[in-house]
Amino acid sequence: MFAFNFNKIAMPIFYEKVALNTFLKSVKNQNTTIGFVPTMGALHQGHLSLMQQSLKENNHTVVSIFVNPTQFNNSDDLTKYPRTLSQDVEKIQQLHSDIIIYAPSTEDIYEGHVHAEKFDFDGLENQMEGKFRPGHFDGVGTIVKRLFEIITPDKAYFGEKDFQQLQIVKKMTQKNNLPVSIVACPIFREPNGLAMSSRNERLTPQQRQEASLIHQTLLQAKERFKNKSLMEAKEWVTAVFATHPTFELEYFEIADEETLTPCITPLKDKNYRAFIAVFVNNIRLIDTISLK
Ligand code: AMP
Repeated sequence: MFAFNFNKIAMPIFYEKVALNTFLKSVKNQNTTIGFVPTMGALHQGHLSLMQQSLKENNHTVVSIFVNPTQFNNSDDLTKYPRTLSQDVEKIQQLHSDIIIYAPSTEDIYEGHVHAEKFDFDGLENQMEGKFRPGHFDGVGTIVKRLFEIITPDKAYFGEKDFQQLQIVKKMTQKNNLPVSIVACPIFREPNGLAMSSRNERLTPQQRQEASLIHQTLLQAKERFKNKSLMEAKEWVTAVFATHPTFELEYFEIADEETLTPCITPLKDKNYRAFIAVFVNNIRLIDTISLK
């Protein structure tokens, strides 16, 4: 599926923004574009598919690997987040030897002030993930803005897996007039339908298999929303997870794709999307599906 490139010498890895910036200035001119894929590492094929898209559309692709502390509202989640830099570098270099890797330290990004800026995302931040992860999107806005300043990409690639994050990044870009296009990339799934996630690594093989229920339930909820009713779909999803001891449902919501406000009465000219967050043995998994 991905082009492997063993022959060329790989790009150096940049650990400091000053060196990265100097390098990017030396390769950037009016006729070249820079594509950027921000990640927190523990890379899987979902991440690689974003890189693949950037490689297709740009002269240069930068991938950042940084576990951003200000977007974690739960310190345990931050501590347990997988950190696998050498394997990540190997995966990227196997995908394409020209990819520029930026793996900064917290100091290089935050310069001694590990704090999130406060953002107004016109209410997008108050729904779903925002309700259950207070401050999370301020952390996301802070790191994405900072990385955009350092890298000055022409295009930046974000997965629909984190659909609310995608809308928030679009909003921040638009409100701050940042000269970067945000490209939405489809969700990459495991063969059983489970959305790929770095957190899947923390599931046992059995939990990973059982977690396919999340996507299966979203697919069924889509049918119920179309053929029955909004309420029926929501109640059915709640009942499915209530009967499964492996899962603890945090939320299931059907919301307007643009504003992310919960759907109350479906309107013909609006696009809706289902969003879900579920715990499997304290590991929090999210997924989403378009209801079009
Ligand atoms: P993360 O490392 O989790 O911060 O993710 C980095 C980027 O990869 C984000 O834009 C995510 O939405 C995207 N991403 C994560 N998982 C997937 C997936 N399964 N399919 C597509 N994109 C993904």
